[in-house]
Formats: sequence, C-alpha cells, structure tokens
Amino acid sequence: MNQINLHFLVTHAKHYGFIYPSSEIYGGISSIYDYGPYGLELKKNIQKYWWKSMIQLHDNIVGLDSSILMHNAVWKASGHIEKFNDLSIDNKDSKKRYSPEILIKEFLLKTDQKNRKKFLERLNKYLLNNNLSDIESLIKELNIFDPISGSKNWTNIHLFNMMFKMNERQGGFFLRPETAQGIFTNFNNVKKSMRMKIPFGIAQVGKSFRNEIIARQFIFRMREFEQMELQFFISPKEEKKWYNYWKKLRLQWHLELNLGNNKYKMIEQNKLAHYASYGTDIKFNFPFGLKEIEGIHCRRDFDLKKHEFFSKKKFRVFKESKQDYNYIPYVIETSLGLDRILLAIYSSSLKLEKIQPPNGGSSNNRIVLKIPYYLSPIKAAIFPLVSKQGLPEIAKKIFNDIKIDYKLIYDAKSSIGKLYRRQDAIGTPICFTVDYDTIHNNTVTMRDRDTMQQKRIPIASISHILREKISMKKILKKLLYFSSNIGS
Ligand code: ATP
Repeated sequence: MNQINLHFLVTHAKHYGFIYPSSEIYGGISSIYDYGPYGLELKKNIQKYWWKSMIQLHDNIVGLDSSILMHNAVWKASGHIEKFNDLSIDNKDSKKRYSPEILIKEFLLKTDQKNRKKFLERLNKYLLNNNLSDIESLIKELNIFDPISGSKNWTNIHLFNMMFKMNERQGGFFLRPETAQGIFTNFNNVKKSMRMKIPFGIAQVGKSFRNEIIARQFIFRMREFEQMELQFFISPKEEKKWYNYWKKLRLQWHLELNLGNNKYKMIEQNKLAHYASYGTDIKFNFPFGLKEIEGIHCRRDFDLKKHEFFSKKKFRVFKESKQDYNYIPYVIETSLGLDRILLAIYSSSLKLEKIQPPNGGSSNNRIVLKIPYYLSPIKAAIFPLVSKQGLPEIAKKIFNDIKIDYKLIYDAKSSIGKLYRRQDAIGTPICFTVDYDTIHNNTVTMRDRDTMQQKRIPIASISHILREKISMKKILKKLLYFSSNIGS
C-alpha cells in the first residue's frame, strides 16, 4: 500500500470533483481554490462531526454565525491592525516578496545536515526575539539569492499586515482574519439571550482571510479559508483545568478519525500570537512534513478587556455567591482550519493499492480513498449488473427508496469493474449490485470498499446495514464518554 505524494493528490482532487483551482479558465489565482461536489460533501461532513462534538455533546456550548465584515473598531481593539503582522523581505530586482523565514529555511535545505542545524537554531532564536537585523545578516552571511532573478539585492526586513482591506469607497472594511472576534463582540448578546452561565462556550464555523506572503502547499495555506473555532469562557481560577480539558478533548477528536495516532504531535507554542498567554499546536504529518492543524490558546481576558475599553460597554459576569463582585471571564480558544483538517484526512486516506485478482491473473492498481465511512461524500452506490432484463428498474427502485436518508449514487454507465473503481476512488464505503439472482430471491451483492469482500444480503436489510456502518453515533458516544472522564 502506498501513501501518495502531493502532486498525485492535487490531480486526484481535480479529476474526481473534490477541489479545483479557482478561476482556472483565466489562469487561476495562487492559493485560492474551489470545492467541487465531492469536496464540498466531505467538508460538510467534517464540519458536522466538529459541530456535533461541540454543540450536541456539550450542553453549555451554543453556535453563532457572525458576519465577515465588522466595524473597523473591532480590529483596532483586538490588536490586529497593529500587531497581526508577518515578516517580509523584497528583492529589489525581481520585485518579489518573500517570508525571510521560509527563504532561509528553503535555502538551508540545500546545505549539509550539520550546518543546517546550526543555522536553523540561530534563525529560530532571532525569530523568537524579533531580531530583524540579525535575520538580515544571516541572509547576507549565507549569500542567499532570489530564486527567480538570482539577485542578492534585498530590502530590509519589514512588517507586513496580513489583513485584507477594502478601499475607502467600499467602506474601508477589513476581511476578518479570524472568526473569533464575532464571538467576542456578541458575548453579551449570547449570554443574555441564551441565559448562559460561566463556564460556557460559543462555537462558530466561517470564512477567514489572510494575505499570506507565501501561500502554497495546496489548500494548507490559503488566502481565503474556513475556520471552526470555539471560544470557551471561564473563571480565571479555572484556567489550567479548562486548558487541559480542551487540549485532551481536541486531540481525542482527531484520534477518533483513525488516521494513525503516530501522525499527531502536540507542541507547546514558543512564539505566541499577540492575544495569547500560552498555547499548544496540534500538528499533523502531511505529505510535506509535520505542520499545524489546530491551535489551542489561552486568550485570558485579552479580547473582552480590549472591547470593554474601546466600546465602553461592560463584558462582565457576576460571581455566583457575591452579587456585588464581577469579573471579565478568561477564554480558552480552540481553532481548527476546516481546509487543513480536510487535507489531513484526504492526504492520509488516499492510497494506490496493488490488487491481485482472485482468479490469479496479473495484478493491477486501484486508487482508493479510505476515509472514515461517516465522512464519505457518497454513502453507497447502487448498480445494475447489466442494463437489461429489468435489473436497472430494480436498482433504481432501491435507490429511490433510500435516497431520502442518505446521499447515494445510481450508476449504470460502465462495466461493474469500472463502477467499483470509480466509487473506490471517491471513497464510497459500500456498493450494492443488482444481478440475475435478485430477480429470484430479492438479494443483492454488497461490496465493501476497504476489504473488497462481497456478500449477498436481502434488499430489505440495506437501510439497516447503512445505518450501522456509516453512522457517526459510535464515535460521538466514545467522545462523550472520553470528555466526561477528563480530569477524573
Ligand atoms: P500558521 O502558523 O500555519 O500560519 P497560525 O498559527 O497563524 O497558523 P491560527 O491563527 O492559530 O494559525 O489559526 C488557527 C487555525 O486556522 C490554524 O491552526 C489553521 O488550521 C487555520 N489556518 C490559519 N491560517 C490558515 C491559512 N492561511 N490557510 C488555511 N488554514 C489556515
């Protein structure tokens, strides 16, 4: 069984309707992508898994869908206008902009191991201390040239704000770089209208925008992406307890996907975002290395305090016991990129397998997307073995009877072998084939995606089998059990 590379994945994504380059007919735009029919279904199913695990499993978490455009004062208060910056350096000859960190790291990939380690240590130290002139000296010392023009004519390193801003005629709005601020600004609305008491959480899924200097590695780093964020409001005294709770539960959420426990690493962050007091990254082993998929941060009262100051409104809760004492709650944030988790699931589930036909003929390959059954875009496919003797009519009836409950496919466009291959490639867990025996005994052949094993089952049991095999219930039950035992 072979794990595939990124090129194979990108080609598969386009060929089978998962992900297309945006505006492709005009040459595309770097790092902006569109989700095709199957990619969208997959994305929705991942979102459903996250949403249910937050909203349904926790009685004290509610959802929100706040707007992308917000009052500009929000971004002043949140510190994004002043501090949401990345380092950048321009080459004066090619006029190309680079991230100094990536420029140096990519250059070092060509140097020997021993020197690379030494320089990387220096780079990390300079980055941690925001030591821009030392990073510039390192570029000079290493004689790094622009990969496009070959020139070493660099500008100084400068800060580059990552928010997109509309022009003044369009209101001068910023496109939000995180969904979190919509949650903070609605804190009082949600607390009052939903009668929430600390500890409680607000969860939201939505688009965010960042003007990334180097946006690449397919959908890993995009300029327009989707986040699934939870802001969990707590008493400052319980900060450690809830930080540990969310770290454990979020990791378990990932592990339940069954992509391989050895693919994850939790790493305490040493370079924190401006709003965070401390944080942990959940990293995943992508085809291009170990990279962050989710951040868990303690934002303390950073945001609510700033909004209180700038808006002159109170963001406080009363202590249960003493009505005269109030405080600004602390916040634990969990922030997962929907596109990144989709890429994690997709890249580790897509396989190129050698298969040996049962009759001993020569082996051939199959592409199979072994995603968890409950996430698959299509839950089952129904085929007639041949397009005659009433088989299509029976298959169509089965399809019509159950399509109300599940996203299914009816297909009779090619031979049965080809139909199976196509469903394997898009990750459909089960195929049901109507054949000559169906006419006599009301049974069909059921074929499993992963084992490729086939068995006969009565038509009457199809619904029940589907319910058992593709339900998210089991995994949610396990998560519920896990969460109720954290800290005990
Ligand atoms: P990175 O270090 O990779 O830039 P970050 O630390 O800036 O990420 P956060 O601000 O913590 O990321 O955002 C939370 C999550 O949002 C990330 O863990 C990631 O899954 C997702 N995310 C952030 N930036 C992007 C992007 N440009 N494209 C896709 N997903 C993103």
